[in-house]
Amino acid sequence: MTPLLEVDDLAVEFDTPKGPLRAVRGVSFQVNECETLAIVGESGSGKSVTAQTLLGLVPLRARIAAGRVAIEGRDVTGLSDREWQRLRGERIAMIFQDPLSALNPSLTVGYQIAEMFRRHRGLGRRESRRRAAELMTQVGIPDAERRLDDHPHRFSGGMRQRVMIAMALALDPRLLIADEPTTALDVTVQAQILRLLRQRQRAERLGMIIISHDLGVVARAADRVAVMYAGRIVETGTVAEVYERPAHPYTLGLMRAVPTLRDDGAPLEAIDGHPPDLTAPPAGCSFHPRCPFARDRCREVEPEPRELGPQRASACHFAEEVIAGVHTGAR
Ligand code: SF4
Ligand code: MG
Repeated sequence: MTPLLEVDDLAVEFDTPKGPLRAVRGVSFQVNECETLAIVGESGSGKSVTAQTLLGLVPLRARIAAGRVAIEGRDVTGLSDREWQRLRGERIAMIFQDPLSALNPSLTVGYQIAEMFRRHRGLGRRESRRRAAELMTQVGIPDAERRLDDHPHRFSGGMRQRVMIAMALALDPRLLIADEPTTALDVTVQAQILRLLRQRQRAERLGMIIISHDLGVVARAADRVAVMYAGRIVETGTVAEVYERPAHPYTLGLMRAVPTLRDDGAPLEAIDGHPPDLTAPPAGCSFHPRCPFARDRCREVEPEPRELGPQRASACHFAEEVIAGVHTGAR
């Protein structure tokens, strides 16, 4: 089976006065039908740039320096803007953290959803409106017929996110990318939105990518995780594997910093230090200045991702020791 999405050795660079900033490099992953991959990392880890690139929205002053992205087997790396416009919405769609900035405040929600059908499907006014109401019902907006004529500000944060999901799903995409889809919402609404996404995913056999810094959200929403640090994927695996037995010291640090994932009452440990300046990253492993496991080799040789099992990889020289929980403390 061809994966819905294949990313192979992707590199994205920004031009800066200090020289090229390598925001993403050597990034490879796949997403299949009905599967959710979470991309996790701190801000600046390259996760949002990766997501934007997948949508053909390479940020200003950035370029794809290497690699290949294929959607349903089709290489999309060199598509024109016009070709991308067709692909977005139809094959791959996105939902954002802040629906208010993505919706037009001066147009009714019904108009904005119906517009998708008018513009992309050539449907008439009445049929577009009917389809918009149907879609709003599907994403759990009560009393959809009446709410078509409300403007975005009349909806709660959770309901607005449902509107965004409706718009993203309007053209039956195969792949949905959600960048921090629940960050602005309170915990109860967060859970409802994640449930809705799962439900729509099953119904439509969608592949999904969730970009998040919230490991609690990821644990509930994803099947597999890719952890990003300094522009690279440093660890991948199923949620269960990665959460129970992290294979990279950075992942270990992220886990220890999350209160809800701990039940042993031990104090939280944030990861010391800061992510590196990507115009001048450290030699060897870019995590070494922050890594409690670091040794001489780490300062000299950059670790490449290594397979540790089926769909399980780590870019750490000492992954086996990290999994085994052996902490040498050698520096
Ligand atoms: Fe730490 Fe070395 Fe592994 Fe990098 S390669 S994460 S510095 S132990
Ligand atoms: Mg971001």
